[in-house]
Amino acid sequence: MNPSPPDVAVVGAGVVGLMVADTLAREGARVTLVDRGRPGRGATWAAGGMLAPLGEAPGPGPFLAFALESLGLWEGWAEQLRQRTGSDVGYVRCGKLRVARDDDAHDLRARARWQREEGHDVAWLEGAGVRTVEAALAPEWGAGLHLPDHARVDPRRLAPALEAAVRASGVDVRTGVEVRSLVRSEDAVTGVELADGKSIEADTVVLAAGAWSGGISGLPRRLPLRPIKGQMLSLALDRPILGGLVAGPGAYLIPREDPDGPLMVVGATMEDAGFDTATDGSSIDGLRSAAEALVPALAGRPERERWAGLRPALPDGLPLIGPDPELDGLVYATGHHRNGILLAPVTARVVAGALSGGPPDSRWAAFGPARFP
Ligand SMILES: Cc1cc2nc3c(=O)[nH]c(=O)nc-3n(C[C@H](O)[C@H](O)[C@H](O)COP(=O)(O)OP(=O)(O)OC[C@H]3O[C@@H](n4cnc5c(N)ncnc54)[C@H](O)[C@@H]3O)c2cc1C
Repeated sequence: MNPSPPDVAVVGAGVVGLMVADTLAREGARVTLVDRGRPGRGATWAAGGMLAPLGEAPGPGPFLAFALESLGLWEGWAEQLRQRTGSDVGYVRCGKLRVARDDDAHDLRARARWQREEGHDVAWLEGAGVRTVEAALAPEWGAGLHLPDHARVDPRRLAPALEAAVRASGVDVRTGVEVRSLVRSEDAVTGVELADGKSIEADTVVLAAGAWSGGISGLPRRLPLRPIKGQMLSLALDRPILGGLVAGPGAYLIPREDPDGPLMVVGATMEDAGFDTATDGSSIDGLRSAAEALVPALAGRPERERWAGLRPALPDGLPLIGPDPELDGLVYATGHHRNGILLAPVTARVVAGALSGGPPDSRWAAFGPARFP
C-alpha cells in the first residue's frame, strides 16, 4: 500500500493505460493503475497488432502524422520491454501489402498516388509484381500497394510484458477494482470513487478505460464513445505462409508466432452492436472465405480460436487525448478505435507532456476534449 496518496490514478489497464502508467512512473510520478478485470484483457487482447499508419489513415492530416510518430516509437518500446522484462513482444517490421483486383483498383491507385505525393515510402505493384512480395497470394490480385515500413506486434505478448514493466516501475496495480466515478471538489479532480464505495485520492486522473470510458460518472462532458465490435479468428499453420501483413476486400491477414506453431490471424468485422462480445458463425465464415480468396493455401487450415473485442470509437474516428479545459486534473487517453496498439506510445508521450505542465503540442489539437462541449 502507498503510504500517501498517489500523484496520478490511471483508470483502465489496456495498452493505453499501461503505457501511460509506465511512462509517468519512469518520469518520477507515484502512479496507481486501476482495472476492473485483468490488465490487457479488453480490446488490447483482441487486437491484431498491426502497426499500419498509412494503411489506416484516410489521407494526409493530424491523424497520419500522429500515427507515424507513434510507429517511430514502437521499436524503442519493444527493445526496452525486452531489456526490462526479458519478454519479446513480437515486434517485426514486416511491411504491409494491400491488394485489389485489376478491375477494382481505382481507390487503391488513388491511395498510392497521395501517399507518394506526400513523400512516403510506398511501392505500387502490378500483375506478377504483387507476388514478388507475397508469393502465396492468389493470381487474381493484380494490383498492390506495398508499405515496407509497417510493422506488427503480438498484443497477447505485449500485455503481460507491459504489466511486468509497470510493476517494475513501481506502479501500484489494482486489478479486479472498478472505478465508478470521479471525485471532484469545485473545479478540480481529487480522485476516483470505486464500486465498493472506497476511493483513491489523486491530484490527476487519467481516463483510459477504452470503450467503457464514457460510463464513468462525474465527467464534465458527455463522451459520445461507442463500442465497435470486431470479430477475428486464427488458423494453425504448418509453416509461415506470409512474410508480412496483407489486406484485401473483406479481410486482413497477420502472421503470428505462437509457442504451438505459426498462426494466421484473420480480421475483422466492424459492428455497432453495443457491448456484446459474442462471435457468430456467419461472420467468422465470411472472414475465413475472404482470407482463402486472398491466400488459397489457407483453405482447410484448422481454426485455433475465434474471439471478439470492442474498439473505443468516437464519431469523428479520432482519439481523445489531453487535459480537460474546465476540470483541473482530468486527462483523457481514450477513443483509439482501430489503432490503439499503434497509437499507445505517442499517447503516453502526450499525456506525460500534459502532466509536466509544458505547452501543449499544437499539432495534436484535433484530438482534444473541447470538440465535445
Ligand atoms: C478485433 C480488433 C482488432 C484490432 N486490431 C488492431 C490492430 O491491428 N492495431 C491496432 O493498433 N489496434 C487494433 N485494434 C484496436 C485496439 O485494440 C484498441 O484501440 C486498443 O486496445 C484500445 O486500448 P485501451 O487501453 O484504450 O482499451 P482496452 O484495451 O479495452 O482497455 C480498457 C481497460 O479499461 C478497463 N475498464 C473499463 N472500465 C473500467 C472501470 N470502470 N474501472 C476500472 N477499469 C475499467 C477494462 O477492464 C480494460 O482492461 C483492434 C481492436 C479490435 C477489437
